[in-house]
Amino acid sequence: MSYLEWMLSVLKNSVELAGLPQEVYDYLSKPDRVLMVKIPVRMDDGRLMVFEGYRVQHNNALGPYKGGIRYHPEVTLETDIALAMGMTLKNSLAGIPYGGGKGAVKCDPKKMSMRELEQLSRGYARAIANIIGPEIDIPAPDVNTNPQIMAWMVDEYSKLKGYNVPGVFTAKPPELWGNPVRIYSTGFGTVIAAKAAAEKWLGGFEGKTVSIHGFGNVAQYAAYWANKYGAKVVAVSDTSGTVYDPKGLDVELAMKVKNETGKVINYPHGEKISDSDASLYVEADILMPCAIENVITEANANKVKAKLIAEGANGPTTPEAERILYSRKDFIAAIPDILANAGGVIMSYLEWVENLQWYFWEEEETRERIAAIMEKNFKRTAERWEKLKEERKDKVVTMRDAAFVLAVERVYKAMKLRGWL
Ligand code: NAD
Repeated sequence: MSYLEWMLSVLKNSVELAGLPQEVYDYLSKPDRVLMVKIPVRMDDGRLMVFEGYRVQHNNALGPYKGGIRYHPEVTLETDIALAMGMTLKNSLAGIPYGGGKGAVKCDPKKMSMRELEQLSRGYARAIANIIGPEIDIPAPDVNTNPQIMAWMVDEYSKLKGYNVPGVFTAKPPELWGNPVRIYSTGFGTVIAAKAAAEKWLGGFEGKTVSIHGFGNVAQYAAYWANKYGAKVVAVSDTSGTVYDPKGLDVELAMKVKNETGKVINYPHGEKISDSDASLYVEADILMPCAIENVITEANANKVKAKLIAEGANGPTTPEAERILYSRKDFIAAIPDILANAGGVIMSYLEWVENLQWYFWEEEETRERIAAIMEKNFKRTAERWEKLKEERKDKVVTMRDAAFVLAVERVYKAMKLRGWL
């Protein structure tokens, strides 16, 4: 199944579960607009390379289109459409005033020099300039794009306009109208979601054991904030293996080791396990898969012992695995990625609000705002889930189902009010 086919099946299922008319699916199964552009770049060796890029604007019923820009050799327009559709739903569930969009450039940034990357990024910003803007469409980073690239793009767009337009791209460097919370917003948000769930279903977060799969950006800050909020992080892993200590890891030391040596397995205490997936199976109350997709599958779901899962990564649990997990008597919920890793896009929203006002909050205030939005979203989703379980006793309804239902319902209500349906 292609990613677009999967996205469409999720949409269809959500429309059906929400009891909405089929025309909602018909409307949302296609993007509002697709722009394909070419970006010519003179390479360092004198050759002219002509790159292909896209910007997909899926739906703007709730506000300006919003979604990242991906640089990857294998991107296709079809995947970009599916990703834009996913952003409409993610932004809707996040309760922020955005529609969904996504951009991509077919390139291999790992083989490009800084100068070539800058030329490509400025070229892409120029090519899509006519259809973006702080009130129209607000791109951000995604796979292989970063704050420096956003800085080049915001500069290029501002030059075209003749004045500074900070709110047209988000996740810019803190020194250029960005926000210092951005670096840890996703991992922080995942912990806020897990904490809200633990308070609701496990009698609290403090003292609970947490295991984390991955140890990159999302995972490290998830570990950091889980620890700060009083949970005990017992395992983390990366491609070098898993470190495990039932007494609790020294998270800051593990971060230091990872960032200095590149491998978490060099952490000096606890048990070292060569299997990167061991963190999925250790004894822990809460599991946070924060590395890559498809790690909890039909083949290993019955080895997972955690009662709660908070998905920091995108798509770590397959549908078959989810069915196995929810059939377990002591399993409570898998807080879906669309809800649990929304801290980044919520941060983008707050940065945009700052940029529109030219007024910047202190770091702690930004963090509190993210936490308040994440908590509200968790609560709304948990309540919708309870209701959905009552409504649909004929099937196993997951928290993910409830999240997508809420997302579709919010977009539907806005479209209905605007007279689009
Ligand atoms: P990253 O590249 O910083 O970290 C990925 C980590 O996963 C690395 O530590 C790597 O060693 C580890 N890893 C890779 N394969 C593994 C394996 N088989 N077993 C164990 N560990 C493995 O990436 P990131 O930015 O932290 O993103 C992680 C996930 O979160 C991705 O699915 C991404 O799409 C999602 N996500 C990220 C953000 C964000 O703001 N960074 C926002 C939303 C979703």
